Amino acid sequence: AAERTKDVVAPTKELPAFDYSPSAYSGPTGDEILAKRREYLSPSILHSYKTPLNVVEGKRQYLFDDKGRRYVDAFGGIATVCCGHCHPDVVAAIVEQTKRLQHSTVLYLNHAMADFAQALASKLPGNLKVAFFTNSGTEANELAILMARLYTGSHDIISLRNSYHGNGGGTMGATAQSIWKYNVVQSGVHHAVNPDPYRGLFGSDAEKYVRDVQEIINFGTSGSVAAFISEAIQGVGGIVEMAPGYLPAVYDIVRKAGGLCIADEVQCGVARTGSHFWGFEAHGVVPDIVTVAKGIGNGIPLGAVVTTPEIAKALTRRNYFNTFGGNPVCTAAGLAVLKVIEKEKLQENAFEVGSYLKERLTALKDKYELIGDVRGQGMLLGVELVTDRQLKTPAPNETLYVMEQMKELGVLIGKGGYYGNVFRITPPLCFTKEDADFLVDAMDYSFSRM
Ligand code: PLP
Repeated sequence: AAERTKDVVAPTKELPAFDYSPSAYSGPTGDEILAKRREYLSPSILHSYKTPLNVVEGKRQYLFDDKGRRYVDAFGGIATVCCGHCHPDVVAAIVEQTKRLQHSTVLYLNHAMADFAQALASKLPGNLKVAFFTNSGTEANELAILMARLYTGSHDIISLRNSYHGNGGGTMGATAQSIWKYNVVQSGVHHAVNPDPYRGLFGSDAEKYVRDVQEIINFGTSGSVAAFISEAIQGVGGIVEMAPGYLPAVYDIVRKAGGLCIADEVQCGVARTGSHFWGFEAHGVVPDIVTVAKGIGNGIPLGAVVTTPEIAKALTRRNYFNTFGGNPVCTAAGLAVLKVIEKEKLQENAFEVGSYLKERLTALKDKYELIGDVRGQGMLLGVELVTDRQLKTPAPNETLYVMEQMKELGVLIGKGGYYGNVFRITPPLCFTKEDADFLVDAMDYSFSRM
């Protein structure tokens, strides 16, 4: 099927006229870049498409290739571009700061860093107000785990199967997808049964999943743990939601065992789920440590660990330093991102357009047997493909086929899930209903040609 992608025709509805057109491009062609990439870049680099696109320009929710062809970027970078590509306010903040001072560290006072830390704290509940900045989600989670171990004096970490927390020494241990692990690093991590209502061992029965965590604490540790870390909605794992009631109950028992609760908001935070600014808020819990990256910099490398003043003190017991963390250019971008989200009501838009998009995708499920599940919140949506709805047999080849067809039609989406059979739809939060219609029409058309 994957061979048939070339002769696709446009879906019925066109995108509305867009007031930006691509700039003239005279740089190298995709073939020239690909040749260099093959010779000079690590072959480990992943790309979803048979031939990676030569993306040369981005304007809000759209990307342009070297031929001036427009694509709806419904993957949003990798859930990184929350205000839209090259948002003028974010660009202006970066340019202004770059001209004045390009680099500084925590050794000096730095108002960009301090202002952003204050703004970030204002978005968080409780006493979560002290930030430490990093360059990525991996680094943020590494530091969160370290903080929890230093603070509690315990070593054991509990994370969920199917989670993705990064690719460093500690985070690779916390990650529970073997394709992302090497030598099956565990480093003191216990993986609990994933409370996944679709594929989970206990369906939506939160109580059973909670009991599993309690058993890990009872039988797998000395009785005290350092932390429980989880995403509110698993992103790389295929946009997996949690059985209702699970998180508050687990937070309770983890705290009783002396542990801290870490919310990995790298993918699900920063207004993406629409109903709340942070993913954990939908569960009515307040974590002890929150990690942030991806959307907070709108694609600029910026990560953060935010915690309480008391827990933050644990880090003074040893030296911890990050050369680029909190760089003024990145933190200026972060502050601009928070302002744009507010000014343009992007969280509200994520909720409204995201709900509409989910409805339309759910209607598509009635039309195609291949769609086993549609899930997620706001602009964090997943569509899981299965060849047999009863057995939930993963359909990775069909997933790739539809993605490739959609690319030909001008729509980019991501994929994930342990079996590579889940579309990940994580557009910039400025995505419109017209974009959503275009996406669903392109998906519908691609399924119809299967
Ligand atoms: N945590 C979550 C939930 C993620 O989705 C990711 C990346 O996809 C990470 C951590 C790691 O972030 P980074 O790739 O910036 O290191």
